[in-house]
Parts: sequence; structure tokens; C-alpha cells
Amino acid sequence: MTTAGNPVPTTATRAAPERPDRINLLGLTRARLENYFQEIGERPFRAVQLLKWIHQQHVTEFSTMTNLSKALRTRLEQDAAIQLPEIVSTHESIDGTTKWLVRVASGNCIEMVFIPDEPRGTLCISSQVGCALNCTFCSTARQGFNRNLSSAEIIAQVWLARDLLENGVANKRAITNIVLMGMGEPLLNFDNVVDALDLMLEDNANGFARRRVTLSTAGVVPRIDALRQRCPVSLAVSLHAPNDRLRDELVPLNKHYPIRELLAACRRYVQDDAREKVTFEYVLLDGVNDSPTHARELAALLADVPAKVNLIPFNPFPQSGYQRPPPQVIDAFRDILMGKKIITITRKTRGQDIDAACGQLAGEVQPRSRRMRLRKAASAAPTGRATVTLGAERLQS
Ligand code: SAH
Repeated sequence: MTTAGNPVPTTATRAAPERPDRINLLGLTRARLENYFQEIGERPFRAVQLLKWIHQQHVTEFSTMTNLSKALRTRLEQDAAIQLPEIVSTHESIDGTTKWLVRVASGNCIEMVFIPDEPRGTLCISSQVGCALNCTFCSTARQGFNRNLSSAEIIAQVWLARDLLENGVANKRAITNIVLMGMGEPLLNFDNVVDALDLMLEDNANGFARRRVTLSTAGVVPRIDALRQRCPVSLAVSLHAPNDRLRDELVPLNKHYPIRELLAACRRYVQDDAREKVTFEYVLLDGVNDSPTHARELAALLADVPAKVNLIPFNPFPQSGYQRPPPQVIDAFRDILMGKKIITITRKTRGQDIDAACGQLAGEVQPRSRRMRLRKAASAAPTGRATVTLGAERLQS
């Protein structure tokens, strides 16, 4: 047994030494692997064999891949590798939630979380080191942004968690759902996230049903449309406010993509499937966005959107400047939405004792520049109005 909140040093991570001279096959989709094999003069069906070895058998040594020819195994050993990041520590909550700190290249660490909730087991993974969006109530934002994760670093989280949870001898726990709700804004790392999603869904790799994988976004509108074209997994949108004035303040990205445009993209996202709904996440902040008027405004806003609402009572972190509303306020907010026939669930807080709840993931994010270091230092104190930076990318609508 582990004590709640205490890090447990982990040894069984099979982290391969970094080999920058070799191509890492871990993050390559079926199509990219087929190209790779064609380029080295092999038949494309090798891609499926390799996907199964890596993602289903969890084999990382080419020498063990017995259905590949001896010559091909030797070639792969020279040119390629299957490289996984290392798990630095494991934290177990009294409620069964587990959080892992994962060291990725360039001296950073990200966090991933497993939340068991019979019959489900949800794995929450990260898409970036830190985050550039500056949502005022989120502790990841305080870390600043360092870089995008590669497709290998994203799918590695699924690989590692499955290895630890499903391949263990005792106490096996299945991952039934994956949510991209950890550190980062997935739609600002679009190409790598979509490659990793392909590997989550691909039958010869992880084989998750589309609906069991959820991408959560603060609302990068053009990329919502692109996701729909490319890989329409379940969509969750972090709304948090029922009008632009308040949302501009809480989610500064709203100044680029206001609510009307965001909801139009959400309607387009689900228009081809009458059963599908967008999940709207709404963090309840005491005295900020939690009044009956806000609830009625939200209900009116969502009246013509196929929507489910997930209310998330604010999870506190030091010097956030916000508080969680009392339970009766949360219930009253929910009842108003339900009264307007909007499916509404109040999310249970999980893993709070190990800082694994929504918005508490921080990892270890290296400052990118002097400016970032200053900003990080400044944000140790309660901040005023945040400004939006889109990090590595600037988007055009
Ligand atoms: N950038 C994406 C993915 C992060 S998901 C997005 O914004 O959707 C993390 C979810 O937890 C989001 O809905 C986020 O708004 C919410 N969250 C952030 N900080 C929180 C906090 N302190 N308490 C509760 N929920 C929080």
C-alpha cells in the first residue's frame, strides 16, 4: 500500500536511453509506418506487424519481434528505436486515483492521471509541457508554456499507463476511456495530437472506440473544424462563462474566438450524428460565475446546441484567488440547467489529496526565456487580468 500523497519511486518504467540518431517508431501512425517501410524497401504490411508488437504486445526490442525477418530486425536495430519517457514518481490518492510524473526530453516533466470509477477507468493525458492560454483559474497556466509534446510523448502516456495498470500481475485495472484534459491545449498541438489519436483508435494499435476518447479544448475554433474532418473523437469545450465579457476575463482565448463562433463550431462538430453531444465544462467559481442568473444565461446559450454540461467545482491551489462555491450553490446551478432540460452532471472531485484533480496538474515546466522566468516569478503572486499568448502558434480564423 502507498500512503496518500506520498510519492512512490517507480523502477519499472523500461525507459530506453535516448537515441537522437535513430527514428523513434513509437509515435508513427499506421500510414507513417507504411511510408517508412516502403522507403527502406520493405512491404507496407510490416506496419501492422510493428504496431501490434509495440502497442499490443508492449515489446520494445526488435530482436523479440519474431515475425520480422532477421535482416529487417538487424536493420531496425541500427536505424530505429522504440523510445519511452521515464516515470519519475507515482502518487496514489485515498480514492484510488493515481498520478504519474513523466520525464520528457529537455528537462521537463508532465503529469498523467488514472481515475477509476467502476465500471470505467479514465486515463487523463497531457498534450503540451505547460500551457500558453493563461486561464485565470488553472494551475497549469501558472507554469507557463515550454513546448509541444511529440506524438510519441503523447501516445507513450497511454503505453505506460496500460503497461502499469493492465499488464500487472495483481490489481489489474482496465483503461476504458481516454481524455485529453491534462496539461496543455491539445488543439494548439494539432498534428502531433491527431497522430496520437490515430494510434489510440487504430485497431492494430490501441483500438479505442471513437466515443471513448475525448479531446477537451478551450475553443480554438478553426481547429475544431479541422478535428471534425480529420479525427472526430468526442469533443469537450471548456466554456466556464455564459457571456463574452466574463469569458474574455477567465479564458483569454475568448478574445480571439468569441462564444458565438465557438458554439457555431460546436454545432457543426456534431451535425452529422443526431445522437452526439458536445460536453461543456464549466468550472464553478464562488461569486464569479455561479449565480442563478449565470445559470439561466448558460441555459439560454445552449438551448440550440446538442449539449451536456459538466459542472466542475473549482479545485483550489495556492494563491489562485478563487474559491469553490458552497454545495447548495452548486446544486442550485445544476437544478436550473436540468429544469431547462440540459443534461448536467456535477463532476466528482478526484485525487485532490495528490493534486491530481482538474486544473491542479503542474508537472515541471522549464522556463523558455528570461521573459518566461519573470512571468513565472510574477505569477507566484495573485495575478490581475491575464493576457492571451498562443505560444508557438498564432492562428488565423
Ligand atoms: N486546454 C484544454 C485542456 C485542459 S482540460 C481545455 O481548456 O479544455 C482541463 C479542464 O480542467 C478544463 O475544463 C479546465 O478549464 C478545467 N480546470 C482548470 N483549472 C481548474 C481548477 N482549478 N478547478 C477545476 N477545473 C479546472
